[in-house]
Amino acid sequence: MIKLKGFTSNIVHHDRQQDYNDNPIHTPIYNSVPYGYKKTQDLMDVFQGKATGQSYARQSTPTTDSLQSMITQAESGLDSLVFATGMGAISATFLSMLKQGDHLIASRYLFGNSYSLITTLENFGVEITLVDATDIQQVKAAKQDNTLMVFVETIANPGTQIVDLEAIGDWCEEQKLVYFVDNTMTSPYLFQPVRVKASLVINSLSKYFSGHGTVLGGAVTETGQYDWTNYPNIFEAYRKGDPSKWAMKQIKKKSLRDMGGSLSSDAAYQIAVGAETMALRMDRSCANALALAQMLDNHDKVEAVYYPGLAAHPQHDKASKLFKHYGSILSFDLKEGYDCAELLDAIEIIVNATHLGDNRTLALPMASTIFYEMGPENRAKAGISEQMIRCSIGIEDTEDLLEGFKQGLASL
Ligand SMILES: *Cc1c(COP(=O)(O)O)cnc(C)c1O
Repeated sequence: MIKLKGFTSNIVHHDRQQDYNDNPIHTPIYNSVPYGYKKTQDLMDVFQGKATGQSYARQSTPTTDSLQSMITQAESGLDSLVFATGMGAISATFLSMLKQGDHLIASRYLFGNSYSLITTLENFGVEITLVDATDIQQVKAAKQDNTLMVFVETIANPGTQIVDLEAIGDWCEEQKLVYFVDNTMTSPYLFQPVRVKASLVINSLSKYFSGHGTVLGGAVTETGQYDWTNYPNIFEAYRKGDPSKWAMKQIKKKSLRDMGGSLSSDAAYQIAVGAETMALRMDRSCANALALAQMLDNHDKVEAVYYPGLAAHPQHDKASKLFKHYGSILSFDLKEGYDCAELLDAIEIIVNATHLGDNRTLALPMASTIFYEMGPENRAKAGISEQMIRCSIGIEDTEDLLEGFKQGLASL
């Protein structure tokens, strides 16, 4: 494997280092479901893990293997597994690593579907405590005798809170807890959770990783930080050989093989092509988001702006220390009396849509869409104002974005 210094250099030179017939510089799309062997013994060795090789596309193909190795390199990890979606990767990890009677501490600033998934885990007898993970004292106070894992995201959506990533990592190490970090909002280009001692890292590949809003995928990465000999839930079959591989063997067999949320080779190929421009896209979209946040922050029709790049953001210093840029999610509250939908309709450059990490700027009002079901009281508790608009900033030219927002606000 060529090891270059830069993030993008490693991604764009990744595929040609593998040995494929005819030397393609992109990993080909392998659409065969079964893989055949001339000698039965060779197939038996693959099944028994004595030889590496493909057997059935639900577990892997050469195309998904190649994407996994690219993700591992981007995260400075040991190994990765890919799934059909980000939620597929998160649910696979929870379902194969937790059991009835275990306790999970989770940040209360979670992606809505991850929050919903956790409430389903409660039905299976997993105890959950949600905490304000920007405050390490609350995380520590939640520990019980049966706590096994802490789950957080890097930058929360839509409020852009940043949990105390470093302090939680130190504490998990000391307490021998698995530190499970969803890196979707930052991507490995802005931040590698292994730097704060994360044990397992999730990326939704549907967002910044692939970038174009045309493909779904998810990944879990083993960082090598956690000693799995301390973890009670590893099945006997996987407690063999190098302990740093135990968890991934278990997640691969118990969830990818048995639950089957597998990524197709077609999707893996598209994600790998998209990843080549992750850094370029994020440099641009994060710079756009910062420029827009500064403009909105000084606008008299805007009540509040939520963006880690603003000096007044409560975790601005942490974000500056840990992340390459401040992300491209930006939320703001319109002043009372102005109508969110009217503003969005007046800004031509905005697409009214949910989703994050597209090349186009997407925006939607929060209270009347994603958090509608929650009702006004619970919205207030979760810090979602009735006047909040979330924007996923794209790679358009900065001037067009600033102009569009300025004109839209002026028309109110
Ligand atoms: C979108 C998202 C997910 C889920 O990813 P999908 O690929 O859409 O399943 C998980 N976590 C975060 C933080 C996300 O933004």
